[in-house]
Amino acid sequence: MIQTIQLFGLPFVDATPSHWYTHIKTILHNNEKAFLVTANPELVLRSLRDPAYKHILQQATFITPDGIGVTAASKRMGKPLTATLPGIETARELLRTADALKKRVFLLGGRPEVMKSLIQQLSIRFPDIQFVGTFHGFGKEEEAAKAIRSVEADLILVALGAPKQEEWIASVYDQVDRGLFIGVGGAFDVWSGHSKRAPKLFRQLKLEWLYRISSHPRGLEKLKDLLLFASLVLRKKTHL
Ligand code: UDP
Repeated sequence: MIQTIQLFGLPFVDATPSHWYTHIKTILHNNEKAFLVTANPELVLRSLRDPAYKHILQQATFITPDGIGVTAASKRMGKPLTATLPGIETARELLRTADALKKRVFLLGGRPEVMKSLIQQLSIRFPDIQFVGTFHGFGKEEEAAKAIRSVEADLILVALGAPKQEEWIASVYDQVDRGLFIGVGGAFDVWSGHSKRAPKLFRQLKLEWLYRISSHPRGLEKLKDLLLFASLVLRKKTHL
C-alpha cells in the first residue's frame, strides 16, 4: 500500500525509494494499468496556473516528488515527505524490470537523432526488452497515438516535456486496456548521451536542478518559476 500526502492540491507519493521501486516493479510484473506523473516545482506551478492541466494530473495513478524542491516545500508546509523520488531513477528501475521480464516497451519523444541513439543505447543495456514502438517527439505524436492502441505495450515512456507528455498520455489512456505510462521529461537526452547528468558534485550537494537550469535554453523562465515557487513555499501558500 502506498501512502500519499496532499500538497498543492495533489496527492504526492510518500514512500522510501526502495518501497516505491518495489511497488512499481510489482505493477509492471502484474501488468496493471497505471499513469505515473513525476512532479517537480515547475509542474506544480503549471497545475496551479492551469485548471485543465491540474485535471489531467488528478487522473494520474501516482504523483511522485521529483526533485528536492517539492520535498523541501513539504517540510516547510509541515507535511514532510519521506523522500525525493527522481523520475529518471523511477524510469530506469522500470526499464531494468522490463528487461528482466522481457516486457514490451514503447518510446515517444525527443529529437529524431536522440531517438536513434537512444534505441541503440537501450538495446545494448537492456537486450531482452522488446521495443514495440519508437517515435520521436517532433511531429510523430499522432502516429504514436494510433500505434499505442494496437501494440499492447507494457511500459510506455513519454519524453515530450510538461505539459505535452501528460496531455498525450491522458489523450490515449482510456483507449488502451494495459500499460504503465510515465512522462520522463529530458531522460531520453541523458540516456542517449545527448545531455549529461549534472556533475557528481552538483548531485552530492543536491544542486542538480541548478545545473539543469543553467544549461537549459529556457533557463531564465525556469529560474523565475523556481523563485515564484520558493516564495509561495516561504509564505506557506498552496495557491497562486
Ligand atoms: N520534446 C519533444 N517534443 C516537443 C518538445 C520537447 O520531444 O515538442 C522533448 C525534448 O526533446 C526533450 C524533452 O521533451 O527531450 C524535454 O523537453 P524540454 O527540455 O523542453 O522540457 P522540460 O525540461 O522543460 O521538461
